[in-house]
Amino acid sequence: MSFELKYTPNICPYCGCGCGLNIVTLNGKIKGVEGWKRHPVNEGKLCPKGNFSYQFVQSKDRLKHPLIKKNGKFIEISWDKAVDIIVSKLNEYRKENPNSIAFLASARCTNEENYILQKFARVAIGTNNIDHCARLCHAPSVAGLAQTFGSGAMTNSILDIEEAESIFIIGSNTAEQHPIIWRRVLKAKNKGAKLIVADPRKTPTASLADIHLPIKPGSNIALINAMMNVIIEEGLEDTDFIKKRTKGFEKLKEVIEKYKPEKVEKIVGVPAKKIREAAITYAKADRATILYAMGITQHTTGTHNVISTANLAMLTGNIGKKGTGVNPLRGQNNVQGACDMGALPQFYPGYQKVTDKNATEKMQKIWKCDDLSSEPGLTVVEMMDAAIDGKVKCMYIMGENPVLSDPDIKHVKKALKNLEFLIVQDIFLTETAEFADIVLPTTAWGEKNGTYTSTERRVQCIRKAADGPGEAKDDWRIICEIAKRMNVNGFEFNSTKEIFNEIRKVTPQYAGMNFKRLQKPGGLQWPCPDESHPGTPILHTEKFATPDGLGKFIPVEHEEPAELPDDRYPFILTTGRILFHYHTGTMTRRSETLDNEVSTGFVEINDKDASKLGIKDGEIVKVMTRRGEIKIPAKVTSKVREGVLFIPFHFVECAANMLTSTNYDPISKIPEFKVSAANIEKLED
Ligand code: SF4
Repeated sequence: MSFELKYTPNICPYCGCGCGLNIVTLNGKIKGVEGWKRHPVNEGKLCPKGNFSYQFVQSKDRLKHPLIKKNGKFIEISWDKAVDIIVSKLNEYRKENPNSIAFLASARCTNEENYILQKFARVAIGTNNIDHCARLCHAPSVAGLAQTFGSGAMTNSILDIEEAESIFIIGSNTAEQHPIIWRRVLKAKNKGAKLIVADPRKTPTASLADIHLPIKPGSNIALINAMMNVIIEEGLEDTDFIKKRTKGFEKLKEVIEKYKPEKVEKIVGVPAKKIREAAITYAKADRATILYAMGITQHTTGTHNVISTANLAMLTGNIGKKGTGVNPLRGQNNVQGACDMGALPQFYPGYQKVTDKNATEKMQKIWKCDDLSSEPGLTVVEMMDAAIDGKVKCMYIMGENPVLSDPDIKHVKKALKNLEFLIVQDIFLTETAEFADIVLPTTAWGEKNGTYTSTERRVQCIRKAADGPGEAKDDWRIICEIAKRMNVNGFEFNSTKEIFNEIRKVTPQYAGMNFKRLQKPGGLQWPCPDESHPGTPILHTEKFATPDGLGKFIPVEHEEPAELPDDRYPFILTTGRILFHYHTGTMTRRSETLDNEVSTGFVEINDKDASKLGIKDGEIVKVMTRRGEIKIPAKVTSKVREGVLFIPFHFVECAANMLTSTNYDPISKIPEFKVSAANIEKLED
């Protein structure tokens, strides 16, 4: 008997750190993973999710054949038949109105798959109705950093966090959500860096802070404006940087003057003295970096929150050099890439606006078509509203699970039920796929080739290590097949390499990359404008990516969240994530080891609040908001602020998004997952 043991270099399929690992196969079957020692980001280390990343691929729940719903039940159907039905339905809706069809791409799929789906929506159907769950996490980063710096991505690299003398983490539980980035934070701390953490909860990240600011959810702008007030009062601003590299400082100063820490301490919920200490610690460091995640973005003021982090960094000259910057930590393996590829309703690949005539002409030339729509499409939440209104009649969902990920689950279910035709392409029969008319089985990570782009703009190859189950096909092959059957040109690709070569042509940031260059451990970081360019670990070193090269201060004011506590709903509910699970749990809950670690959800409640209500640790309680209620075990702890409840959103049996609201940021359209007025009660005996 022969044994063929193989190590296939790959990138972790979970968070946006982009860690390298090898998939270990024995006789073509996946047996495990091993950290990739030569990989620059993780140097062979993996967190628990990475270590057990191979398990979900082998789940018995994997979809193996196309399914069609008949009399409320799924039955198997041939690929040929399934594609025939899809083609005829898409043609029908397209003829009636291209905007009656909407697409969800996926931050878990490859760049090539996202590129093909957005091209299909635009070229084959004629709509910009394409979005994905970046809308639910970092849409404000794209909108906010594009306005201030001219580019909506992490300014620096994971490695250079180590060089910071001061690290300000706001709205990110980095230790649990980006463990390999956290490793660099700890390294910096060991070298003497000071750590400031602003978070309503005493997370594992906040537990190691030199200064923890347990702010009230929704008070980020008041806090940052107060910090800037102190910096100006103390004369710690970088006047040289402000003069040479920015504009709009005087207007910012006028607004900041109102935000004395003593005046806003009640809004922020942290004593003025602590705000002053944090401001001085951040500003006095030679190199200070800001890391943030969804505690900043998931608010009705999400874009303004992001802008305020950019204001703070520019005020102190902490941009364009090692150990500095404004660094949004992306949650999913390829959420940066899905945005780069134009899986967004207002942008073609490379953030070129659909409303820009030149960009449209360029795309039409390369895509060999002449009727691209210049009307921005619908965002995730707008698609659901339009489905309820009957304006969107057909949806095509690739690898997303809006039933659990979107706010107000009842609303989402109503929208999906209201569709005339729903196509879902996935590796599992997810909560969303249950609503589909046709389900198409796809290959998973480890079974396909392509590229991912990590949070630090690092484009890296993933490689096929094993075959997919049954008749599962690569997402891009399915879409290309449908396009060809619709007689649409431009989808005659035979490999991901061919697709990537087209991506290079339309995406300026990727122009200098090719599959040969991307083979090296760590790939290349964009922008990489030509084949001799080494890639860009740090943005804005000489000038910003704005038309005049200057960073733009934009003053922003504190605004209350859309829902505030009242007599009926006296608590603030905030939602989030935990170390062992990922997104809607479709992958981690099918990983035996990870699901064993934390096998269901919980609501964290402050011990003083719990004692007032007679709630005991572990007891099942009811949590209610204006949208609905759930029953869930209570976790009594001093780690969450009084008046605040925290629920992780991964668990279908006590789904946090039954409770969240569809109030959204008017600029980026991100829902306010971080603040809902809520109540909590003991269950009656
Ligand atoms: Fe995977 Fe993120 Fe863990 Fe790295 S830190 S191993 S990318 S989940």
